[in-house]
Amino acid sequence: MSRISYVNGMYCDHKDSLVHIEDRGYQFADGVYEVFGVINKKIIDYHGHINRLYRSLEEIRLKSPISKSSYLYHIQRLIFKNRIVDGLIYLQITRGVASRDFKFPKNCKPSLVITAKNLLTNEYENSFKKGIKVKTVKDLRWKRVDIKTINLLAPVLAKQDAADSKCQESWLIDEDGFVTEGSSSTAWILKKNTLYTTPLSNSILNGITRKSLIKGLKKNKLKFIEKKFNIKDIKYADEAFITSATQYVMPVVRVDNFKIGNGKIGKYADIFRKAYMEAIQLT
Ligand code: PMP
Repeated sequence: MSRISYVNGMYCDHKDSLVHIEDRGYQFADGVYEVFGVINKKIIDYHGHINRLYRSLEEIRLKSPISKSSYLYHIQRLIFKNRIVDGLIYLQITRGVASRDFKFPKNCKPSLVITAKNLLTNEYENSFKKGIKVKTVKDLRWKRVDIKTINLLAPVLAKQDAADSKCQESWLIDEDGFVTEGSSSTAWILKKNTLYTTPLSNSILNGITRKSLIKGLKKNKLKFIEKKFNIKDIKYADEAFITSATQYVMPVVRVDNFKIGNGKIGKYADIFRKAYMEAIQLT
């Protein structure tokens, strides 16, 4: 079965899905994106992700190329055409194709690309059981990472740094020594039965998984605080986690040279994952 992608109004064989060399995404990273998780053929927190996409578009002053309801239609078509059971949808909008010039081009049609990918549930479960390792690196990103732009060079380098140290994620450290977030996830630590995560600002992405987990924590009366934490806090943490659309809630068992807790996943991992899974909306 061939993989099908959506490119500017057409469903194409994935290997023949192309955009022009003067697409502004390619030349300037002038675009935004979203990643939707899919569980059992259903989209997780569709409305949260699509609303964040519209916010990102507004922040870079780009008009959506299609109507809001059309996104859902095309995403569901791709889930069906690619026989996605558990997987992800990647959606990217750039300012379009134009002769290279920094200023916004006139009369330019935005490019819209949507791809779908199956993920192996086993892989997630295996990672969850073992927990992942994290490396801390300097946060070198620009000052508006609350916008989900395709300008991802700093996270690419951070993730590679982590991989070079046999870690699965990097936590980004700001100039005052605090963790902002992961290179592609939200960061959390647990201390004395209270879960900590960085408060929302322009320095982090407003994670949709973060939002649903918080909803689940409130519902289950689990304690949490939106408060910055630093390396010292991590060192004395009882448990740690990352969250993202594709990793859901994933326990962290090591950060740099520090074992978290006893170096194995802790008792809250399942509790938080359950709270998250109960809080999500499926479309
Ligand atoms: N922060 C960053 C920098 C990310 O790239 C992601 C993944 N999109 C997240 C946080 C988590 O966001 P979400 O839960 O919406 O996937």
